[in-house]
Amino acid sequence: MHKVLIVEDEDHILELIKFNLENNGFNTAIAVDGVEAVEKANLIMPDLILLDIMLPKRDGIEVCKILKSNNKTKDVPIIMLTAKSEEFDKVLGLEMGADDYLTKPFSIRELVARIKAVMRRTYRDRQTDEEVIEFEDMIINIDKHMVLKKGKKVELTLKEFELLKILAINKGKVLNRNFLLDEVWGYDYFGETRTVDVHIRHLRKKIEDNNGIIETVRGVGYKIK
Ligand code: CA
Repeated sequence: MHKVLIVEDEDHILELIKFNLENNGFNTAIAVDGVEAVEKANLIMPDLILLDIMLPKRDGIEVCKILKSNNKTKDVPIIMLTAKSEEFDKVLGLEMGADDYLTKPFSIRELVARIKAVMRRTYRDRQTDEEVIEFEDMIINIDKHMVLKKGKKVELTLKEFELLKILAINKGKVLNRNFLLDEVWGYDYFGETRTVDVHIRHLRKKIEDNNGIIETVRGVGYKIK
């Protein structure tokens, strides 16, 4: 079983993540500040670290730097957890060697998917069959977060990818905007359903040539035929 070290100083977020990861079959360990994070990482050698940026004693960026410059821990993948206002730190985090990042608030589904994706990327030898969805001229590789159209890679943002993925998984079903908002943006997201429309529009520009892959069902939502 994979062990995830969760580094987070906010109790309720920590508990939420811990509870859900354990429900998804992960072992968890926790650290509540930057000093404890480095100690625990060295002590238990987790398979992955979820690392909040704003932490007491030592911030996540510094923790990441320390772990990535230590031979013992440098190969442990790190997913940084950032708040929306920490745009700068996010970039810095990736420069420090973090493997991925998630912006709060995120959905648990998204968190678990990202953990699995990073784990697969990191531990290729343990990799099982990749999950791939194919339809029309498209291939969606869920694990690699990659979309091919007529064999060519399509560059999608994370949200566009998540939207396409959920529509493709539910091919033939109409998904309403609120459902898509919850699934892709998370239950804590205070956005409007118009957000969904905007992203669908961008997505269409990228994946459609006149074949209308994504169908608008007026007053309801969207579906892939
Ligand atoms: Ca924090």
